[in-house]
Amino acid sequence: MTLGLVVITGASSGFGAACARWFAEDGHPLLLLARRADRLEALGLPKAMCRRVDVTDRAALEAAVREAEAAYGPADALVNNAGVMLTGDPVTQDPAEWDRMVDVNVRGVLNGVHAVLPGMTERGRGTIINISSVAGRKTFGSNAVYCATKFAVHAASEAVREMAAPHGVRVTVIAPGYAATELSSHITDAGTREAYQAAEASLEGGLTADDVARAILYAYRQPQNVCVREIVLAKTGQVI
Ligand code: NDP
Repeated sequence: MTLGLVVITGASSGFGAACARWFAEDGHPLLLLARRADRLEALGLPKAMCRRVDVTDRAALEAAVREAEAAYGPADALVNNAGVMLTGDPVTQDPAEWDRMVDVNVRGVLNGVHAVLPGMTERGRGTIINISSVAGRKTFGSNAVYCATKFAVHAASEAVREMAAPHGVRVTVIAPGYAATELSSHITDAGTREAYQAAEASLEGGLTADDVARAILYAYRQPQNVCVREIVLAKTGQVI
């Protein structure tokens, strides 16, 4: 059986890289996207087209998907995973950081949907898996804009799911809790970054990237007539 193309954004580290390894192990051809193309290549996965794409660049994202589809056949799944978390006090934070989070976490996800949904709808098959967060289910005072972007991922996913369902296309949201990836290393305020990383450390790092990849694969591997709409997962010891 020929397995379908899986497109993964933000595959150069964390959840995206783990997910790429799991889908490769199952034998899927892959399109791996991120800005650090060297990190994509370094994964060394078979049948993996690696392209340096910023998800905020709609045309570049779409062109990469078309190129991979020409090589491997139509996209059967998109894991819309690329994201940034620039935790900060919304009063003092540089608004450029808000813009970055909205651009990557919201517009980037919509750009991914735009690149694959028309083809999936036409073929009557496909799976879009959007990576949100526990911060898309509940708010955290120090993370207002990040929470806003992840609430937006839930809202957009549910609305797209309603439109896509009659066409046989599945839309899933995966909402993880704390996980010690590179995500928090980009927080610019040292005090905020240290506090965040201390919370992560108190949970022994929280989830692993493989824990999250397993949830993604669980949703994808269900029969086509079963849509796992949402999975919220966190380390057992995580209270908030
Ligand atoms: P990482 O920082 O390890 O991974 C983020 C990925 O996104 C990287 O591959 C990065 O690649 C990519 N990325 C960032 N900006 C862009 C961009 N503009 N264009 C293309 N790719 C981009 O973090 P995680 O693996 O933890 O994060 C993955 C997702 O999971 C994110 O959406 C995050 O919000 C979410 N999440 C993470 C949690 C955690 O605690 N770690 C908890 C809940 C949700 P590159 O820099 O090479 O472009």
